[in-house]
Amino acid sequence: MKVNYKNPKSYKTAKYPIRQPIYLTWLIQVLSQMMLLGKKHRVEKINMEGLKGPYLLLSNHMAFIDFELVSEGTYPRRVNNVVNIDGFYKRAWLLEWIGAICTRKFTTDYHLVKSIRRVLSRGDILCMYPEARYSPCGTTSFLPDSLGALIKLCKVPVVVAIHRGNHLHAPFWAFRRKRKVPLHTTLTKLYDAEDAERLSVDEINAGLKRAFEYDDYKYQLDNGILITEPNRAEGIHKILYQCPACKTEFKMASEGAELYCTECGKRWTLLENGQLEAAEGETEFPHVPDWFEWERENVRREVREGRYSFTDEVDVYSLRRTDKFIPLGNAKISHTIEDGFVLEGNYRGADFRVQRMPLEINSLHVEYDFPHIKPYDCFDISTEDDSFYCYPTKENVVTKLGFATEEIYRLHYEKIRAKRNK
Ligand SMILES: [Zn+2]
Repeated sequence: MKVNYKNPKSYKTAKYPIRQPIYLTWLIQVLSQMMLLGKKHRVEKINMEGLKGPYLLLSNHMAFIDFELVSEGTYPRRVNNVVNIDGFYKRAWLLEWIGAICTRKFTTDYHLVKSIRRVLSRGDILCMYPEARYSPCGTTSFLPDSLGALIKLCKVPVVVAIHRGNHLHAPFWAFRRKRKVPLHTTLTKLYDAEDAERLSVDEINAGLKRAFEYDDYKYQLDNGILITEPNRAEGIHKILYQCPACKTEFKMASEGAELYCTECGKRWTLLENGQLEAAEGETEFPHVPDWFEWERENVRREVREGRYSFTDEVDVYSLRRTDKFIPLGNAKISHTIEDGFVLEGNYRGADFRVQRMPLEINSLHVEYDFPHIKPYDCFDISTEDDSFYCYPTKENVVTKLGFATEEIYRLHYEKIRAKRNK
């Protein structure tokens, strides 16, 4: 059952990007340099001598500033970026003009591969952020195995850009408050074109996963970076949603430099060096990413033991085209191990139903305080020609939904692989 749109036309993502005009490559670099002004940063190139293009540039993704740093690292070469449809919101003309490629997150987009190959065949750089969303915790997010196949298909060198400090500078869970942090970006050539031909898909993926390891809190500690702003912990309960003392979920809160559980009352301080410290008793996780990964483990267990399910009423907005979000009203969402996401509602007198099976969605597009519609947490379920932004009624659930999406995908994916290898 489709949504009963007045105008059912959808933005066409299946089109080739233009070649970026060279004056725009220059202009983007100038604007990036202006935005980087006053920010202590270093862009280091490793094993990149003589490499001009074409190549695939895979970058980790923590904040908007990533684009500016990539621009510094790649100038004067032309770069085409793969961008999610909400990046095109109200400025599709601009993104088309600079040669960006539009896609919908976590969908199967066959034309995307064609567009990527077209860019590379022109000798230019194709830049992708394969985690496809800002890292919630300054550590590696989900990397799809399809990357290995893409690299094998493209037969060009692969460069990995790893940004450090960008999460500390603008943590996804409090992106509006920027902090002063020295930034360090490395561009490293990981594979030559010959490697892409020689290595197996699994080998390529394994190398990629190693190259993509990063941890901003470790970077902070190793480099003695202090974040002294008094509100530094505000928002961190969005990713640290489960209390390690009483195990209650979704009852965490934060204020000033503190994180606390409203259920059992335990409190932790986010120290200036980025480590956590309990006000009383044991500090379960001094290292923020350890707490985050502990939560993931708990969700994984719930999924593996068949105990996981989620239902809620959500306020839905669709981004069918790039000019506006269409309010579709309230709808029911359910997320289960067998059926994935099911969204059911009624728009203009007709019922609609959208489903994404577990293997159709390997990770979840989550937004904290999403600026485009209303500044609260939401998540987006995309199909090949539509994107549904859902605002949950239940509080602080989107991080867990993200974990569950990845763990359910992993479970089904492993089953399929096991069957194939029999
Ligand atoms: Zn508690």
